[in-house]
Formats: sequence, structure tokens, C-alpha cells
Amino acid sequence: MAPILYKLPEAVPALLDALKASRTLFFDCEGVDLGTKGGSLTVMSFGTPRSPDDAHIVHVPPIGATALRPIFDLLESETIQKVVFDGRMDQCALFYGFDGVKLRNVVDLQIVDVKARRQTEPLGSEEQLERLVPYLTYREVMGDQANMYQHVHKLAGLVQAFVEHGLDAEVWEDAAELDLDKTRYRNWAKKDLSQDQLNYAATEIRLIRRLYAHFNKRELLSCEVCEASEKYGSLWIRDGLRQPSTFDEYRRHPLLPLGIIDGTAGYGFTHTCSGCKRSLTRACFSRSAWDKNGNCLVCRAVHLHTVRKAERLRHQYDSDHDDNYGYGWGYDGGSPGPEDGYAYYGSDLD
Ligand SMILES: [Zn+2]
Repeated sequence: MAPILYKLPEAVPALLDALKASRTLFFDCEGVDLGTKGGSLTVMSFGTPRSPDDAHIVHVPPIGATALRPIFDLLESETIQKVVFDGRMDQCALFYGFDGVKLRNVVDLQIVDVKARRQTEPLGSEEQLERLVPYLTYREVMGDQANMYQHVHKLAGLVQAFVEHGLDAEVWEDAAELDLDKTRYRNWAKKDLSQDQLNYAATEIRLIRRLYAHFNKRELLSCEVCEASEKYGSLWIRDGLRQPSTFDEYRRHPLLPLGIIDGTAGYGFTHTCSGCKRSLTRACFSRSAWDKNGNCLVCRAVHLHTVRKAERLRHQYDSDHDDNYGYGWGYDGGSPGPEDGYAYYGSDLD
């Protein structure tokens, strides 16, 4: 896939010409601490089904918000579908950094991935629960309290999802190779983007395009998935919740927040979780947490992980190969986390 770079305001009409006729846009962002308070958005990447060999890479700072307005209009269009993989921090970067730009008509493939697993991993099945190990201990997840985890889902990174769905090995091998030497492309604040960075951004678009085609063929892109994608992408720009900070225990973790899919997404009386501060229904809490206004089941798991990790560090023993944020193997997703990446080898997010 050939990256086409746009880095001057004068290039925006050509970019618009390349994108505006497409009813579907593959979209991804790169930046420094993307979407978090004090972070910055430096690259927007686009692809279209009409020209699958092209990735349009937009270097945002030298173009500026004013010239990019027609491109933001495409992102805000209800008639053009945007396909992303974990668009939460992309949405935060656009909303908080560019005067409230909102992604509309979105399909988030990270949500589709969790839904797609259902065919082989029913809710509460051993296969579903085992994904939470080693984020939580095997004993915790499979023990007496196993029923508390049926709505707690471990998110997969883009490359991991790609591999698990059996998609073309050469594509993810390229991605994994790029991930091996992150120093080549990690500095998204650079004045000029390197060829490695352009290739990296183009590879992400290529992965998103292929995964989308795969899910589309399997008829997994339902209205329900679109509704869940909308809720997921806008998590941190609504309900009066503040923008995530670089370190935010209850928002920067590899578990799917509750209230997005399945039985936790219903309506009814709510309590505010003392961890993530979101208003959630009864299905999102244990009985005692509901009674005492405590943590939702996901924040409970996040807190447990943090406590266990601190205990292990105190004993100078870390057996689960986690990074400092606890993402473990294969979480990337292009959003909340210490850095961007494919994460196939255990790194993560941007
Ligand atoms: Zn919570």
C-alpha cells in the first residue's frame, strides 16, 4: 500500500477529491499521547475501498485546523461511514483539540471483534474468561466469582485481531516487523515524517481495510454494532466526563468498558461507578458494589490488577510479562495507553 503524504494547506483540495466520493472511509490517527490532556494529534490517515492500494497520510500541524475544515466535515458527515479500530482516543484528540469535531457514522472494528468471538466463545465460557489471564490470575477468573466476569472482555489489538481471524499472514508479519524497532517511527512530534512513519500509518490503514472486509463478508456489521461503536467512540467526550490524562487507571486499561454491548448496555436505574465515574445499570455491579456505590465490575478488575501488580513488584517478582500498564500480550488498538503500536509482541496503544 503506497502512502500519499499531504503536508501543505494547498494539498487539501486533492485530499478532498480523493476521499469525498467514497461512502466508506478507513480512518486512524497518530500523535503524541494521542487524545489525552496535553497530548497532540499529528497525523490523520485515510483509506477508501475504491482505491485499496492508497493510504492518504495527512500531516496535521503544517496544514492547520482552518484548512482541514473540509476534511473534518467528512468525519462529521452522517452519510459517510468511518471505519476505525478503537477510535476512543482519536475521537478525544479531535474533540478536545479541534473545537469539538465529532466522528459520526462510525464502525469500530474493536467492538466487532469482541462480538465476533461470541460464535466460538459464548458469554461466561471458559474461552472468554481465559482471555482475562494473566491480566487477572487464573484462580480469580475461574474461581468462585467466575460469574462476575461474563461481561468483562479483554480487548485485542489490531494485529492480534487480524491474526485471530486468520487473515493474510504477510500483512501482519509486515506490521510485526515494524513493531520490532519502534524508535524508527515513534516520534510523531517530528517536523518531518520519515518513510518509516508513513509506512507505519499506511500499514494500519491496510489492516483496518482487510479486517473490515472480513467482518463485512461474515455479515457482522449490524445496526447493533454501529450503535455500540457510537457509544464506545464517544465514551470520553460526553456525560460531562473530563478528557483522560496520560495516566488514568480506570480509563487506560485493556478491558472493554461496560454499558457498550450485551446485558450491560440496557436502560434503567443507574449508579455512578466510583472508579470510571460513569452512570451504569445494575448489571454492571456486584451486589455489594451496587449497594455501596462502589466500582463497576470492570473497574473492580482494573483495581485488582493494580493491587496485585503492586504486590508482585514489592516482591520483586513479575511473572506475567505485562508492560507497566498491564496490557499484556497483543493489546494495541491505537488508543489509551502509553504509546502507539501494533502490540503483537506485548506493547500497545498510543
Ligand atoms: Zn467503572
